[in-house]
Amino acid sequence: MADKVCGICMNAFLDRELDPEYDSSSVCLDSVNGVSVLITSGSLYSPPVFIEIMQWNEKHQQNFTLMKIPLRYCPFCGRKIEENTPYLK
Ligand SMILES: [Zn+2]
Repeated sequence: MADKVCGICMNAFLDRELDPEYDSSSVCLDSVNGVSVLITSGSLYSPPVFIEIMQWNEKHQQNFTLMKIPLRYCPFCGRKIEENTPYLK
């Protein structure tokens, strides 16, 4: 892979040393009225790198995912996320 990988888009699909169950990362970009926008990478059963929109549920006292949007490029380093290709429409 020619492109450089940053700490945001690095994931277990690129580095087999990483465990997709434990080595996932989330960076919160913004949060308004209980709705948060994150970039999550490397989590199991999800696209390798995606934007995640979560909403805080007061009754259950936890966040629920509303949407997962796979990314074509990393918004931080600009790398083309080849490993997301099967998830892109
Ligand atoms: Zn990146």
